[in-house]
Amino acid sequence: MVRLGRNSLLVLTAFEISLLAIVFDLSLTSPIHEFGHFFACLALGVKVNSIGWNQIIFTSVSDWRQNIIGFSGGLFAVLFLLCLYILSVVGFHHFQPQTKKGILMINYFSLLIKSILLADMMVQLTGATFEGTALSIYQLLVENVLVLYVLTLAFSAVSLLAVIRLGKTTDFS
Ligand SMILES: [Zn+2]
Repeated sequence: MVRLGRNSLLVLTAFEISLLAIVFDLSLTSPIHEFGHFFACLALGVKVNSIGWNQIIFTSVSDWRQNIIGFSGGLFAVLFLLCLYILSVVGFHHFQPQTKKGILMINYFSLLIKSILLADMMVQLTGATFEGTALSIYQLLVENVLVLYVLTLAFSAVSLLAVIRLGKTTDFS
């Protein structure tokens, strides 16, 4: 069996998190994001022409409402992810496996899920910033898959290190 060093294990986990974060974002976060746009359109009286799993088309407005609608997709998604993050912290805290293997598995899953949620939060927050302030840059970013992936990978690495650090400071056992 090949034994991996700590650093290669971290890099491998960061890659794993980035791929899972993309799958998670496309399957679960996207519709919440679109709902955020939809909700803002409704509140501001802007006509929605169509809404889908990862796309919403609304009547373009050329005033401040466009910025609010742009922001609200990502912000809604961040709020949703924050709720899931808190739930996962509480949830994993209740798991007390008896075996060493069980403890290792729960620790790994907890690390993975928290990092995925945090990385996705960063992706959505970046998205919200551009979608709300510079729609042309946002559209350029969304169309450039490679840049989008590199960004997600960087966020995944930062999230992984942050969750490891958070785990160390809250572990008093
Ligand atoms: Zn959007």
